[in-house]
Amino acid sequence: MNNTINLIEKLYKTHSLELCEYEFLIKNRNEESAALLKEYAVKERKKHYSNSVFVRGLIEISNICKNDCYYCGIRNSNHNCDRYRLSKEEILECCKEGYYLGFRTFVMQGGEDGTFTDEWLTDLIHSIKQNYPDCAVTLSLGERSKESYQKLFDSGADRYLLRHETADEHHYSKLHPDELTLKNRLECLKNLKEIGFQTGCGFMVGSPYQTTKNLAQDLKFIEDFSPDMCGVGPFIPHKDTMFKNHKAGDADLCCYLLSIIRLIKPNILLPATTALGTVENDGREKGILCGANVVMPNLSPMSVRKKYALYDGKISTGEESAQSLNNLKKSMNAIGYEVVVDRGDINNNL
Ligand code: SAM
Repeated sequence: MNNTINLIEKLYKTHSLELCEYEFLIKNRNEESAALLKEYAVKERKKHYSNSVFVRGLIEISNICKNDCYYCGIRNSNHNCDRYRLSKEEILECCKEGYYLGFRTFVMQGGEDGTFTDEWLTDLIHSIKQNYPDCAVTLSLGERSKESYQKLFDSGADRYLLRHETADEHHYSKLHPDELTLKNRLECLKNLKEIGFQTGCGFMVGSPYQTTKNLAQDLKFIEDFSPDMCGVGPFIPHKDTMFKNHKAGDADLCCYLLSIIRLIKPNILLPATTALGTVENDGREKGILCGANVVMPNLSPMSVRKKYALYDGKISTGEESAQSLNNLKKSMNAIGYEVVVDRGDINNNL
């Protein structure tokens, strides 16, 4: 047996590898290692989630952001970005449509928009929970104080997504201005978990300056932090950023990492991301076939979808629209999986 196969067997049995072993596994990716990882990842996901695919209705509530992450199309200094913010009524209208379509989780994502005070958000969360008590509310609104996160949790929010972006401090500083630090990002993640949120971290595959060691650090961080969810998708350049000429992340590497993450934490909620579906037409199906179990179709009003442009070419029509949920159901059925009407919480029972 070669070393890569040995490492996959070790990961499958113990859910843990040394940093240098993760690095070796990534560096020596080949058809054989990808196939074995995929086989074990699917076995584990089926143990916890059978062939169910959870859907989350993604509502992009604002593209106004005070931050200036160098890779992001809605960064503050992009003056070509056509800014918008949804009203409470518009968000509730999205939830209404989503509930009718069968969504039982609503994900509110947006830039760090100062209008979203604790009062504004807690009022919104109360209203959603009042109208749809059987639904989960996920927030993805960036870095806030622990007191603020606590208020959001107390008002009924269930989950919070905050990608760590990269677990390496130096790499983090190449992607963000000085005022944004990995230390603060990780502090936020720790706070979210302590408060009791189902917490999600994550990173981009192929972000500028990323090394194989950085990816191994991301995997080790996931092993140590043990998040409930993990968003991993390819980096895709945006024309109005300094990384506009950088190439997009590799879909196969992304799928390989999804399989590894499934083996690190077998019951993790793992999305096949929109970015993966953007770099390859059947990217999301590939992600599901490599161990992912969540898809997040867009529920935002049609009029703003193009404006929430984190990167170029983001899919915003066809299967990406919630109205085409039926197409998504069909494409999942075609690969042996089933979209279910369910909140889709983490399965801690096994
Ligand atoms: N403001 C919140 C935050 O910082 O977590 C949520 C919105 S932010 C735009 C959501 C995620 O989009 C980021 O965590 C980042 O990983 C991803 N993203 C931004 N620009 C991207 C790009 N060019 N390619 C792929 N993903 C990108």
